Amino acid sequence: MTSSEELFERARHLMPGGVNSPVRAFGSVGGTPRFMVSAKGPYLTDADGREYVDLVCSWGPALVGHAHPDVLAAVHAAVDRGLSFGASTPAEAELAAIVMERVSAVERLRMVSTGTEATMTAVRLARGFTGRNLIIKFAGCYHGHLDGLLAAAGSGLATLALPGSAGVTEATAAETLVLPYNDLAAVEAAFETHGPNIAAVITEAAPANMGVVEPGAGFNAALSRITGQHGALLILDEVLTGFRTGYAGYWGLTGGAEGTDAPFTPDLLTFGKVIGGGMPVAALGGRAEVMDYLAPVGPVYQAGTLSGNPIAMAAGVATLTAATPEVYAGIDKRSLELSGAVSAALGEAGVDHSIQRAGNLFSVAFGTSANGVHNYEDAQGQEAFRYAPFFHSMLDSGVYLPPSVFEAWFLSAAHDDAAMDRIYAALPAAAKAAAA
Ligand code: PLP
Repeated sequence: MTSSEELFERARHLMPGGVNSPVRAFGSVGGTPRFMVSAKGPYLTDADGREYVDLVCSWGPALVGHAHPDVLAAVHAAVDRGLSFGASTPAEAELAAIVMERVSAVERLRMVSTGTEATMTAVRLARGFTGRNLIIKFAGCYHGHLDGLLAAAGSGLATLALPGSAGVTEATAAETLVLPYNDLAAVEAAFETHGPNIAAVITEAAPANMGVVEPGAGFNAALSRITGQHGALLILDEVLTGFRTGYAGYWGLTGGAEGTDAPFTPDLLTFGKVIGGGMPVAALGGRAEVMDYLAPVGPVYQAGTLSGNPIAMAAGVATLTAATPEVYAGIDKRSLELSGAVSAALGEAGVDHSIQRAGNLFSVAFGTSANGVHNYEDAQGQEAFRYAPFFHSMLDSGVYLPPSVFEAWFLSAAHDDAAMDRIYAALPAAAKAAAA
């Protein structure tokens, strides 16, 4: 028995499924999850002492690489000053100022501890600000595990949603409309039917939780226009893309002043992952007029014992400070090289696939070369069964991929030639495994 097997056996008797977040259980790829004990640069080390090139990067936060010296130094210094004060600290404003300097759509910021809290608060704030109830979300977009957004599409496009998880009430789901992604006609139709009751549209800036799906050109800008016309808000969820796809997130890359699409300004944005560099930090921000509806200035309540925790703030400040434009240029380049190598290996092995790309984020979909993946229906229609053998072959060769085909692959600034060469060496065998 390996140490990971022993640890998993023990954990299964202590925690549901042996894990604290479902995807870690390897449910969709099978086998025993690896228990990790340390991480450095682009590498993870498991409890058996095996080293892996990490393409999960803690699901995004490790943008500058694991255990970056500047981040560790900042955290160590903060720890020495105490763990938590339950009072305001200078570092909160420091991190908020960095976010606002990078993302001009943010005029005020509120720190929370998880992405779920950020989107949950954004939804409550949108309802409080507009005095309306309904929220539009897109099928396949994930915004965390708040009840209202764990909703599945109803029978017709403009019908109210059904619970997407046991424990979500029908009444809660019925306050959400779930529409197909990349379908502006469906959005227009929903506003025709329900316009005066719609508080907000929430969308991932670029979806990466059904595999990566690129928003059609101008899609997010059109959502901004439509919500604006109807007095609803646009919540751009950048929990995953923020400070990862670029210096100012996916919005900066596409819809911001320097972006490639029509410029637009989301009313609210949510952040997580990179903003805390591996510590529990998330945030919501946006127009001052909307944000000032939050307590203590406004009537929408929100609070957190550990919000703005000084150690987490120190990690966030150090991570964003290390995440220079050159860091993004390097990750962009590596991402293109890697996705090209994956595609070449799969092509060589005769495996039909498409590389799904949005900025420097990418994932692989199988059996989708004809049309690619543009929405959840396309994502679900792929030959997902090819991923498990591909994943395990890579794992056996010392490359740690996301344990689900519906997740993005994450690179960091620490992925150097040596790490990339290990990945490239592993690809041909994995591609053959996927072909079988
Ligand atoms: N929003 C998006 C786009 C995400 O990808 C996630 C998590 O993966 C969340 C929200 C929820 O964040 P958390 O897991 O920190 O609650």
